[in-house]
Amino acid sequence: MRNARVWRALVGVDEAVVEKVEFDEGSRAVVGHVRPVRAARGRCGVCQRRCGRYDAGEGRRRWRALDLGSVQSFIEADAPRVSCPEHGVVVAHVPWARHGAGHTIAFDETVAWLATQCSKTAVTALMRIAWRTVGAIVARVWADVDALGDRLDGLSRIGIDEISYKRGRNYLIVVVDHDTGRLVWAAPGRDRATMRGFFDQLGPERSAAITHVSADQADWIAEVVAERCPHAVQCADAFHIVKWATDALDEVRRQAWNDARRAGQTKGKGYGNRVATGDARRFKYARYALWKNPENLTDRQRDKLAWIAKTDPRLHRAYLLKEGLRYVFAVKGEAGKQALDRWLSEPSRV
Ligand SMILES: [Zn+2]
Repeated sequence: MRNARVWRALVGVDEAVVEKVEFDEGSRAVVGHVRPVRAARGRCGVCQRRCGRYDAGEGRRRWRALDLGSVQSFIEADAPRVSCPEHGVVVAHVPWARHGAGHTIAFDETVAWLATQCSKTAVTALMRIAWRTVGAIVARVWADVDALGDRLDGLSRIGIDEISYKRGRNYLIVVVDHDTGRLVWAAPGRDRATMRGFFDQLGPERSAAITHVSADQADWIAEVVAERCPHAVQCADAFHIVKWATDALDEVRRQAWNDARRAGQTKGKGYGNRVATGDARRFKYARYALWKNPENLTDRQRDKLAWIAKTDPRLHRAYLLKEGLRYVFAVKGEAGKQALDRWLSEPSRV
């Protein structure tokens, strides 16, 4: 059939031979009659091992496929049974659908994705299925994802973070594996009970294997970590450390600004000798120069930093400390450790 490839693509079916496509007046739907390609035939529906045919089963069967525009479509094929040494007599595997499912894999995947993106009403109306069907589909898609391996296995260095959504009214706790960079767990909430849920799922043995935990400085995270993996090293995560340094720098900048303003009012006294009257404004607007990473500075901002170094050594020193700390996390590894040692020896020289 000339259009077979088009049809195969439209109904989202690979590894299938399209025998014919027809419009079924009774169900007002497009029906693609297919059969699995030879390599996919005669396999157990559960384990997909090749095994002997048992009988013709209940004859032909239909699977709901993705709609073609506004028209519903189905895949129709034989559903013979095979005899698997492990799973007994079962319906043979079909490459376009999960075992026992009434929808194609492409349909399942579309519904599962929609369920994460739109409202319940939108999914059921758009896909023309009942809400409990959505539930069943999500469950079988999730089971496949889970079967790829327990994501909580082999964790040793993890990061725990809170993410806010709905404009900060709701929170998610997320756990990432620092060694693979993958998200391994997430749950709505920001409290001890939710946090304990993660360690409950992890179990005592795998919790004991955790060596490092990075998090922001929330008490409730630190407490649960200390209770469930007492031997793990707790660290602040790089993002928050640099943020604290940046906040501290901003504090020093604000002091410099206030001092310069005061000096402007009481000219010639104390600090005013050091900072000229018109400087207040310049400190106020030095913010971005101080914040930005040096490699991103514009020439003007570079000049501003040079000016700060000359005018207010204290503020410039705070800037260098912030940059030094950022550098530690930018270079990472052994070089990062050495940079951190240097950084730690710095403030004592003040
Ligand atoms: Zn089997």
